[in-house]
Amino acid sequence: MTPLFPDPLVIDKLSKNFGARKAVDNVSFSVAAGEFVALLGPNGAGKSTLFQILSGLFVADGGSARVTGHDIGRDPIKALADLSIVFQQPALDLDLSVQANCRFQTDLHGIARAEAQQRINHWLERFKLSDRANDACRNLSGGTRRKVELARALLSQPQLLLMDEATVGIDPASRAAIIADVKALCRERAMGVLWATHLVDEAEAADRIVVMAAGSVRFDGAATELMKQSGHGTLLDAFLHLTKAEAKA
Ligand code: ADP
Ligand code: MG
Repeated sequence: MTPLFPDPLVIDKLSKNFGARKAVDNVSFSVAAGEFVALLGPNGAGKSTLFQILSGLFVADGGSARVTGHDIGRDPIKALADLSIVFQQPALDLDLSVQANCRFQTDLHGIARAEAQQRINHWLERFKLSDRANDACRNLSGGTRRKVELARALLSQPQLLLMDEATVGIDPASRAAIIADVKALCRERAMGVLWATHLVDEAEAADRIVVMAAGSVRFDGAATELMKQSGHGTLLDAFLHLTKAEAKA
């Protein structure tokens, strides 16, 4: 039976191969409402492939993923309506204004114009972007562009937010600000957040850490538990220990 309030994300034995390479190998974990989960793994771990399956761009070879109870393979329209994603590769139209990029998203979700404008105003204000609304995205700094992408992702009021290496290429102060913003939003809106990163310090802020390497999950739990299990005093050492086979490869 479907629970009354299903978790934002439940992944069960998900797999995806590229030829002989198991990019995602029998992966299972979930994200609860209001939970900020870091998906921590070195480059090539399979994080982006997993996100591409969750966003409907790739079809899994095996297993399932459910967003708020909707199976991404069988019921993609309902599943996709409840999630937003900020991709690893920036996805703004640089020639369009901040406002136009936001409007594109609300149109895509079929949000009526008056409601859409209210939401756009709200999120631009929240991220202190109101005075940039009519600027072309090309003229914004990397950190500000990322904030626009985040604001845009929130316009559809998702119950699950997927962030793929969202802070790559931006300065440390903007990086910390974006993480703090997303964590606050996660609590306020009881939204599940899956934050993919290869940076151990970004995972430190998470409620739970799922460590992924060479396609499979190596650990799922709190940072303190990871250090305890590995016998290392820092999260970085524990992570390196857990993924050392891949680091050497
Ligand atoms: P991550 O995001 O953790 O860095 P990826 O999901 O991008 O990892 O990659 C996982 C593995 O799958 C890597 O070995 C990568 O080379 C491979 N891979 C990713 N996308 C493709 C693709 N479209 N075709 C073939 N191999 C791919
Ligand atoms: Mg990636």
